[in-house]
Amino acid sequence: MTASPIRLLIHGASGRMGQALLRLAGDLRELQVVAAVQRRIGQRVVDGVPHFASSELAGVPAFDAAIDFSLPEGFDPVLALCVARGAAFVSGTTGISDGQRQALRDASGTVAVLWASNFSLGVAVLDELVERAAAALPGWDCDIVESHHSRKQDAPSGTALSLGEAAGRGGAQPRYASLRAGDIVGEHLVQFAAAGERIELVHRATNRDIFARGALHAATRLAGRAPGLYRVRDLL
Ligand code: NAD
Repeated sequence: MTASPIRLLIHGASGRMGQALLRLAGDLRELQVVAAVQRRIGQRVVDGVPHFASSELAGVPAFDAAIDFSLPEGFDPVLALCVARGAAFVSGTTGISDGQRQALRDASGTVAVLWASNFSLGVAVLDELVERAAAALPGWDCDIVESHHSRKQDAPSGTALSLGEAAGRGGAQPRYASLRAGDIVGEHLVQFAAAGERIELVHRATNRDIFARGALHAATRLAGRAPGLYRVRDLL
């Protein structure tokens, strides 16, 4: 007997990430997208997936996990819905406030929750390298330069801030610079510099499918888990 698929809600479905999630989820037998939510809808059903406007969120069918890649304005209602429905919550929405981070911690008392500024495996490893480099290079200048497409709304990027936290754990005091240009998917350079020498650690994302695959994997692993605040590395 095969297990029934995990019922998935995708929030932010019409966006760049939402479209990648819908396309890739369609190839996974263990997942069934039961609701795609975005600010405004066109067609009610697209490729067999029911679509809902954000104003209709309370009326979506039963689901086991939600993946949210929207904007900070869309974050609170979908988190609240997961708590009310007892569903796992996976979010990659960046630019969220301290209050929204606290709401995530509160929700983790009731449901399984994972928020990550970056769902790529390469950035998870970069995070560890940055912490080690910072700890090994006391007194060096640490600068984080991030580049993204010109329509990205927040700066510095969520990933740059997370890398900065990793550098901070190692004792560095990072500074940030942001570039917005063309269709760059995402690049992060962490530079450590001292008199006469320099180390550069760089991650380049060339395709947003890496983030979508990571989030789909996380949702698969998180559905049905005990309440708590999970990290990407807990699910690898
Ligand atoms: P986008 O602008 O292309 O899409 C945003 C989507 O959110 C759209 O579907 C829109 O309808 C929906 N939306 C906006 N406001 C909403 C609201 N109030 N309620 C419900 N839905 C709403 O953006 P994108 O490039 O797909 O990125 C989405 C988010 O994901 C951004 O915060 C971005 O920084 C982040 N991101 C994170 C990662 C990661 O790995 N964590 C990777 C890429 C992008």
